[in-house]
Amino acid sequence: MNAKILETENVTVSFDGFTALKNLNFSMDLGELRVVIGPNGAGKTTFLDVITGKVQPTQGRVLFKGKNLRGFPEHRIARMGIGRKFQTPRVYLNLTPRENLALAGNRDKSLWNTWFKQSPIEERRRIGGLLETIGLTVKSDLPAGLLSHGEKQRLEIGMLVAQSPDLLLVDEPVAGLTDEETYNVGELLVALAESHSILVIEHDMEFVRQIARQVTVLHEGTVLCQGTIDEVQSDPQVIEVYLGK
Ligand code: ADP
Repeated sequence: MNAKILETENVTVSFDGFTALKNLNFSMDLGELRVVIGPNGAGKTTFLDVITGKVQPTQGRVLFKGKNLRGFPEHRIARMGIGRKFQTPRVYLNLTPRENLALAGNRDKSLWNTWFKQSPIEERRRIGGLLETIGLTVKSDLPAGLLSHGEKQRLEIGMLVAQSPDLLLVDEPVAGLTDEETYNVGELLVALAESHSILVIEHDMEFVRQIARQVTVLHEGTVLCQGTIDEVQSDPQVIEVYLGK
């Protein structure tokens, strides 16, 4: 049996009587790349909020590597190894990609931070490797403000990886990107999935098809169905609530 990186058990989240997540049961294996899809208002953002500790479950438990996250504040959960990339890139535009990656890697400096313990040469080597992974070697010393939207998205994914999380949460990484940029972000996530556990929230079905092995469909705060992209796309309930719109 594979070890679980993330599980939610009967997670319910209510805001003033409105139930955004309803008895949500979800689990993901260590090393998996999972995509969560669902129509607007399905609860996708709340799902990420409850994993990262931004929102506490009204009922139920969130387990990360088997540990109950109840009561932990967001920054503690981030330190425990859950990294989140928001939809809009948050890179420093006047710094270079190299500087952005160095800053991201040192953000959470502590004696236990492995990055901190690296020598400058090791750090430079690691950043060089990351720049190559995200396809920005050629632009590594230009101001990030000169990058295209797709390149900024890849840089920010690199910044997430620089923090060495055990689980990467990636929220709609291709919104507003061209087809080519979308494809490049997809290839990057597939490459990263060889050595990381990644949970992606996405709308773009072509992109989902490119990257996903397993897809979970959320609807009205709960899991409607789960399977391969073909299984999900041919599920009558999914067609009715999501794809058939
Ligand atoms: P999605 O990301 O799938 O579009 P959300 O998680 O953003 O869905 O929202 C799910 C539902 O919960 C929506 O109907 C939304 O209006 C509601 N909701 C989300 N956050 C709050 C909040 N802080 N207070 C009240 N309702 C909220």
